[in-house]
Amino acid sequence: MKLQKDYKFWFCTGSQDLYGDECLKNVAEHSRIIVEQLNKSGKLPFEVVLKPTLITNELIRKTFNEANIDEDCAGVIVWCHTFSPAKSWILGLQEYRKPLLHLHTQFNEEIPYDTIDMDFMNENQSAHGDREWGHMVTRMGIERKVVVGHWDSDAVKDKIASWMRTAIGIVESSHVRVMRVADNMRNVAVTEGDKVEAQLKFGWEVDAYPVNEIAEAVGAVSESDTNALVDEYYDKYEILLEGRDADEFKRHVAVQAQIEIGFERFLEEKNYQAIVTHFGDLGALKQLPGLAIQRLMEKGYGFGAEGDWKVAAMVRIMKLMSAGMKDAKGTSMLEDYTYNLVPGKEGILQAHMLEICPSISEGPISIKCQPLSMGDREDPARLVFTSKEGPGIATSLIDLGDRFRLIINSVDCKKVEKPMPKLPVATAFWTPQPDFATGCEAWILAGGAHHTAFSYDVTAEQMGDWAAAMGIEAVYIDNNTNIRDFKKDLMLGQVVFGK
Ligand code: MN
Repeated sequence: MKLQKDYKFWFCTGSQDLYGDECLKNVAEHSRIIVEQLNKSGKLPFEVVLKPTLITNELIRKTFNEANIDEDCAGVIVWCHTFSPAKSWILGLQEYRKPLLHLHTQFNEEIPYDTIDMDFMNENQSAHGDREWGHMVTRMGIERKVVVGHWDSDAVKDKIASWMRTAIGIVESSHVRVMRVADNMRNVAVTEGDKVEAQLKFGWEVDAYPVNEIAEAVGAVSESDTNALVDEYYDKYEILLEGRDADEFKRHVAVQAQIEIGFERFLEEKNYQAIVTHFGDLGALKQLPGLAIQRLMEKGYGFGAEGDWKVAAMVRIMKLMSAGMKDAKGTSMLEDYTYNLVPGKEGILQAHMLEICPSISEGPISIKCQPLSMGDREDPARLVFTSKEGPGIATSLIDLGDRFRLIINSVDCKKVEKPMPKLPVATAFWTPQPDFATGCEAWILAGGAHHTAFSYDVTAEQMGDWAAAMGIEAVYIDNNTNIRDFKKDLMLGQVVFGK
């Protein structure tokens, strides 16, 4: 599945005609150079496209409306080279609906001490032109990112690159379609939610299908297609028979191969990018989709277990935001499972029944067949591995009844001290920031779920900006968190977002 569309970002420079044609010519030339260098830097994940300098109300309005309808445009970057009276921007900004970046920069890095005169200052006055513009955007209550610094610095390019990925999460959110082939697990609260409100806020379409419709699509996959995929598995992964008969083992693996192909065809045909299953509602499926779901997640599909459509959509969005990243370390659904409470070694073992994305793995990946303690189907084949070390974020989108809240916990992933040979599932292990006890206390106070959408590659800042663009509350649990202030954050969220 194609994860990355060929999105573009428009670069719009604000100015006015007060300073004469010569000045406007320089403004356009400077903007051209900036755009050219940004694109050449190799640091930005998407191309920047230069637009004509914006100097009139009419052109500003027209440009923003064109950005709205251009399906390839994922956002607009605005910089005011000179002063650009902000009343001229009101109509355009009112009608604009996509992500907005205010690049607060200046063409020259250094003050030209020997030659600077009033003409130079009038031409290079983003220091106050951008303040005029920022004032209007704030007054209008428009969510945007502000990036400050010289445009040619690595720090600024990295910030633009990071924002571009947030913008992708924002524009792609309204294209996310989640297929439910099972309802939420009975009696479970936190995986539930208001799907109408989710569509209003995030643009997600969440549809239900009878599980046997997709089971039929699985049954229709030919033996030769299935066997070809089984061969691929046997090439790629270690086979851990653990005393099972080799032929019987392979037949179990083939069930997952058939599910992978059948599910993918069904999702493609109906244009869904995320799926939820439930071990208690499998219809004619012979096994709980394990290996099959793990492979689909690795290809970029969102997934949530036990009917958890919110996690499925979030995994999909975070995969889109990190798609094509150099040195990406992976994104997956995870579940807080078991604690290590030994002082100094505290952490949470992350796993699920089966469905962890191999993108987060490190080291060998093996296939095992083991019974499930739940459900009533044959022993499912699954991929088993351990995960990478390093920082990541665990996110939980919860429905509080009157609104959504996104909880973002920065976590430090580690290796467990010893192998766990009897555990037949993929795992990760982390200590939540700022420390185990405070992190868990804050998570529970915020109402965070046991399922999370986890990523090594997407940052807390990106997810917070995404939540702000969606108009929902975000709370951060990280090294700056203490419980007294965190409770105030939650109170503030109640005041701002509560109904
Ligand atoms: Mn679960």
